Amino acid sequence: MKETKDIFNFQNSYTNLPEKFFTKTKPNSSIKPELKVLNYSLIKELGLDEKAIEKDGLNVFSGNRIPNGAECIAQAYAGHQFGHFTMLGDGRACLLGEHITPNGERFDIQLKGSGRTVYSRGGDGKAALKPMLREYIISEGMHGLGIKTTRSLAVVTTGEDVVRETYLTGAILTRVASSHLRVGTFQYASRFCSKEELKALADYALDRHFKGYEKEENKYLYLLEQMIKNQAELISKWQLVGFIHGVMNTDNMTISGETIDYGPCAFMDVYDHETVFSSIDIGGRYAYGNQPNIGGWDLSRFAETLIPLLSDNEEEGLNIAQKAISKYPDIYTKYWINGMRKKLGLFDEEKEDEYLIEGLLNIMKNYQMDYTNTFLALTRRRLEDLNLCNDEEFKTWYNLWIKRLERQGKSDEEVVELMKKHNPVVIPRNYRVEEALEAADNGDYSIMEKLVEAIKNPYDYSKDLEYYIKTPEVPESYRTFCGT
Ligand code: AMP
Ligand code: MG
Repeated sequence: MKETKDIFNFQNSYTNLPEKFFTKTKPNSSIKPELKVLNYSLIKELGLDEKAIEKDGLNVFSGNRIPNGAECIAQAYAGHQFGHFTMLGDGRACLLGEHITPNGERFDIQLKGSGRTVYSRGGDGKAALKPMLREYIISEGMHGLGIKTTRSLAVVTTGEDVVRETYLTGAILTRVASSHLRVGTFQYASRFCSKEELKALADYALDRHFKGYEKEENKYLYLLEQMIKNQAELISKWQLVGFIHGVMNTDNMTISGETIDYGPCAFMDVYDHETVFSSIDIGGRYAYGNQPNIGGWDLSRFAETLIPLLSDNEEEGLNIAQKAISKYPDIYTKYWINGMRKKLGLFDEEKEDEYLIEGLLNIMKNYQMDYTNTFLALTRRRLEDLNLCNDEEFKTWYNLWIKRLERQGKSDEEVVELMKKHNPVVIPRNYRVEEALEAADNGDYSIMEKLVEAIKNPYDYSKDLEYYIKTPEVPESYRTFCGT
């Protein structure tokens, strides 16, 4: 494969897939581009040349110059949106190419908001500044929390307004991902392509994300099982930090196991299973407590697409798929309980741990306690922060927990160390994110910079982060909107 050096070291493999999977496209050029945010740590991680990016990045990130080695495409995919199957595709994104890092890792470099493509349907192909900055902040926050996610390299404004309910500043986000393969890509192949084309896609996914498949007897079953495992782990991590994705449509579930498409997402303040952040999610389909179930639903749609590959006999293929999917709830629960154990400083397993965990969550719900700060108070042993030290229900739970800790025979220091690694001090709280976005939209990026700095190392207990720890004055009935 040809390698061509520019600010990226592109080497494209996706364009070797059958043509049905993509359409060649070009980003719009921007009339008056301005670089607003640049991710210096990501520049380093990707092995990019900082000076070259500072000199010419703006031209590339704004769509005004196609770098050497790029093969600009929009990817085709379909998906279930709120349960309804639709043909989708990159309607406002352009994949420039796959950057190979000095360590040989491969990352998609995509411009999001770079104009219309053949998949745009009625949309304008553009993006507004605030939602792109929001994706930047939350994706960097997720990365800081140790949760697999697409990353954000840069945000530029284009010099053109976009029309939503009002006129908004137009912007482009440069997104970095292990790949942009989605469950929806498989649904597209399954619905609109031949078996050979579906097979080509599955083989491509195996090669790109599931090395080790070579020795498997049924490599497509391996693909399904690994995908189930990775998504179960990912969603358990969302639950453990109180992250609500907001739009878990099948086109927003990656094959790489990264969190993708930060639209109406947010972190939960007060603990409540029913918390919903999307204004259009009326039925609570994507509510916090429903995310693990919906993950299973989306994975079932993925499994369906693989049936023809799992066996030449359709019924057998279906049985194999069903058997694999039926394991998802247990796999998920195991990840989640083990994660919760760590949040509570538990090194070993006892059967009754689930009751201990549920007991705390019930108290949090009944007393409308902040999810992150409850674990923070337990970690710091600052029970006075909880405001319910004299409550009998809490005292009973607390004594049970202390007795449980004593039974495992670990020192206090060891317990606190473990808890500190799993209970963040700071999360990107909605009202702080909004505050940063509002200021940035008015030209002041300093608040966003400080926020991003704070959420980069969310497990650092040595810093004074009171400003970000503080909960909003009034518990929010927070809604972000889908018009991103
Ligand atoms: P998302 O909500 O970002 O997951 O997008 C869902 C689908 O709508 C994808 O196919 C997007 O490419 C498409 N889409 C979102 N916004 C726009 C837009 N402004 N113009 C064209 N297509 C869009
Ligand atoms: Mg999407």
